Amino acid sequence: MRAVIFDQFGGPVDVRSVADPVPSAGGVVVAVHASGLCRSDWHAWAGHDDGVALPHVPGHELVGVVSAVGADVRRWTVGDRVTTPFVCGCGSCQWCASGQAQVCPQQTQPGFTHWGSFAEYVALHAADANLVAVSDAISDAAAAGLGCRYATAYRALRARAAVKPGEWVTVIGVGGVGLSAVQIAVALGARVIAVDRTPAALALAQSLGAEHTVLADGVLDVGARVHDLTDGGSDVAVDAVGSPGTCSDAIHSLRRHGRHVQVGLLPNVDGHPAVPMDRVIAWELDVLGSHGMASVDYPSLLQLVEAGTLRPQEFVERVVGLSEGARLLPVLDAAAPAGVTLIDPRLS
Ligand SMILES: [Zn+2]
Ligand SMILES: [Zn+2]
Repeated sequence: MRAVIFDQFGGPVDVRSVADPVPSAGGVVVAVHASGLCRSDWHAWAGHDDGVALPHVPGHELVGVVSAVGADVRRWTVGDRVTTPFVCGCGSCQWCASGQAQVCPQQTQPGFTHWGSFAEYVALHAADANLVAVSDAISDAAAAGLGCRYATAYRALRARAAVKPGEWVTVIGVGGVGLSAVQIAVALGARVIAVDRTPAALALAQSLGAEHTVLADGVLDVGARVHDLTDGGSDVAVDAVGSPGTCSDAIHSLRRHGRHVQVGLLPNVDGHPAVPMDRVIAWELDVLGSHGMASVDYPSLLQLVEAGTLRPQEFVERVVGLSEGARLLPVLDAAAPAGVTLIDPRLS
C-alpha cells in the first residue's frame, strides 16, 4: 500500500510503498476513505510522543470500510463502514468494562502506538470493543473528525465541563477541535467567545455562532478582554491549542468557580509546562482533562450528527491526496489554516 511515512522525528515526510497491514486476532484492517490532518499528528512527527517508534505512519481520525477481519472478531465483517475513537481500549480491563476506554491503561492509538491512517489501509485493535458503525446518512467529511477532534470537543463540553444553557464558554484556538467546540457549545445553548491568532479562523467561528471573537495578537490581555465581554469572566474555558500561553489565557478568562478544560496537548518537551495554579486556588477553579471519547458514548453524538444538529462537515476546508498530506504535515504548526484538511488516500 501507499503510505505517508517518516524515518526520523522532525525529518522529511515521504509517500512510499510499504507492506499491507494484517489484522491482529481481535482486530481488523480498514480501507481508509478519509483521515483528518490534526495537530496531534504534527506532535507525533515532531517527536513529542513517547510511544512513537520509527519509521512511522501517522493518522488517527479516520473513516473507511473494513477490508480484513481477525479470527476472534465477532461484531464486524468485510464491507462494514466504520470509524474509531483515536484511543482504542483493550476491551477487557476494569476501565473498559465501566465504559471509560478513553483512559484504558493498555490502550492503543493508531498513528501513535502503531501505524496510522495516512495510508490506504490501517490496522485497528480490539475491534469489537472500539469500532463504531457509520451509517450512510453521515458523510466521510462528517465522520472523519468523530474519532478525535469532534468527539473530544463533545466529551470535553458535555461530560467533563457539563456546560449549561446560557453559560459563557470561551474557546482558545479555533482550529479543528476549537471549531468543533464552538459548534457544540452553541448547540448546548451556551454563549461562545472564540479566541485565535488568525482572523480567518475567527470569521469561521463567528459563522458557526460565536457571539464574540477576540484576536490574540500577542499584545492583547486575552483574559482581561474576556472579563470585559462577560462581566466578570467565562463560566467555562477550553484550551484547544495546548501551549503554556493558551492554557494561561484560558484559565485567566474564567470567573470565580469557573471550569477549565484542557484539550490541546501540552507535551512535556522542556519540562512540564507552567500552569497558573495560583489563580486556580484563589478562585477555586476546576481544572479538567479530556482525552477523546469511548466508543460506548458515540450513539448520542451520532444521532445529533445524523439529525443535522451538529455538522462537523462544515469546517472541512479541503480534501487532499497522500502526497499533499505529506507536504502539509511538517508545516501544520506554522500554517494556522482556517478549517480542517482531510486526506483521501484514494486521490493521487
Ligand atoms: Zn486528532
Ligand atoms: Zn482496557
